[in-house]
Amino acid sequence: MSRMTGESDGIYDAVVIGGGPVGCRAAESACRNGLSRVLVLEEHPETGSPVQCAGLLSVSAFREAGLRDDDACILNRISGARVFAPSGECLCLKGKGVMAYAVSRKLFDRKLAENAAAAGVQFRMKTTVLKTEIVRMKDGTPLRKVTAVSAGKETVFYARIVIAADGVRSTVSRREGFAVPDRIVLAGFQNECQFRPEFPDDVEIYIGSRVPGFFAWAVPLGDETSGIGRIGLAVDPSAAGKDGDVTCASAFFEKLIRETPSLKERIGPSAFEFVVGAIPVTPLSKTYGEAFLVAGDAAGQCKPVSGGGIYTGLKAADIAGKCAAQAVLSGDVSEKSLKIYESRWKASFGKEIDFGMKFHRFRRSMTDEEMNTLIHEMNDPALLNMITEYGDIDHPSVLITKLLFSKHALKLTKIVGRLIRML
Ligand SMILES: Cc1cc2nc3c(=O)[nH]c(=O)nc-3n(C[C@H](O)[C@H](O)[C@H](O)COP(=O)(O)OP(=O)(O)OC[C@H]3O[C@@H](n4cnc5c(N)ncnc54)[C@H](O)[C@@H]3O)c2cc1C
Repeated sequence: MSRMTGESDGIYDAVVIGGGPVGCRAAESACRNGLSRVLVLEEHPETGSPVQCAGLLSVSAFREAGLRDDDACILNRISGARVFAPSGECLCLKGKGVMAYAVSRKLFDRKLAENAAAAGVQFRMKTTVLKTEIVRMKDGTPLRKVTAVSAGKETVFYARIVIAADGVRSTVSRREGFAVPDRIVLAGFQNECQFRPEFPDDVEIYIGSRVPGFFAWAVPLGDETSGIGRIGLAVDPSAAGKDGDVTCASAFFEKLIRETPSLKERIGPSAFEFVVGAIPVTPLSKTYGEAFLVAGDAAGQCKPVSGGGIYTGLKAADIAGKCAAQAVLSGDVSEKSLKIYESRWKASFGKEIDFGMKFHRFRRSMTDEEMNTLIHEMNDPALLNMITEYGDIDHPSVLITKLLFSKHALKLTKIVGRLIRML
């Protein structure tokens, strides 16, 4: 175990690695819970860039972020979804009002960074963390030594605790030995481009073997006059016969557009932004260590049903910041004391992730015929009413469970029976 070198006034209460939404929020939470020297290290020159997101947030996720319903980052208000079976049949789902916002992730992330800065968080941009390790002060107090590169120079920071919020690839937590065997990571691809929505308040969803293991989306960013949308998809590489290849999505995207004339004819020639990214479906089996917490995509805290990671990530960030502050202020950053972080985030949304992983395995096993039957049979007023009543983007298990055990769903028994057995 190495000893600390350097000045003690160089010690931060907490260093947060990654200035994405989760890192900003965790840092803000640490400050608001009593820490005074909190530093975010971000490798890019600005937060929210490059974008790796469809930018669709439930209204409650948006409020969870502490933003107002008239914030400038909102580009569109979404009140429904149109799900297209492989056969082309459409299931029109409606919420009780506005269900989600399509946001500019650049502006959204910037707002979270501003909120963190207002709470006292410091930022160091263009600083890439290479590794963290435990060192001890002369009296045995543990510290995290954070080694980073900034402007080509190696720089060292010391912190009483580190929160790794460095996204799905999280080299930092992997170096700490936090890994999951057989982890499922979806490959995503998206094009922000000219797009003519049929219904500007509805997202379009495309399912079937053309999008192995997941789905494709078209998110309108305004009414017909704005003429812009985000068209994208994510695929499960193992369901696509491309095990471990998180770059395989663009080929499926091109094929989907080529083979779906109803979508293709509404996409214009101008493309404004391409997004290539990965979505973790499996959470880390352990998200804490000595003076160390992992949060957000780095911890695999996404919702497997929808791939959304902002709602759950922000929840985890709040908990991580609070647990970090309590541990530092009590002088006990041991692994044992930080276990509370994992218990708390699991109590908050762990069941939703467990359910979502089972649902994901079921979805992966469905044939096109089964999806066609499912969409056809769900086009039933009683079931559509249930969807309007119980649909909740952040808690899909509530609706799915209600549907599974509803008398109206008896005709679906053959298909959903398999899901019931998997739950
Ligand atoms: C195609 C696609 C579409 C998506 N659509 C949605 C959606 O509609 N709704 C939704 O809720 N979620 C969506 N997601 C998921 C969502 O984007 C993530 O869950 C969310 O961004 C996670 O936030 P985060 O802060 O954990 O990680 P990130 O946003 O990835 O932020 C991590 C930050 O860490 C920085 N970093 C990484 N390594 C280092 C290092 N070594 N040193 C310093 N800094 C580092 C990165 O530069 C980055 O800024 C989508 C994902 C993809 C790929």
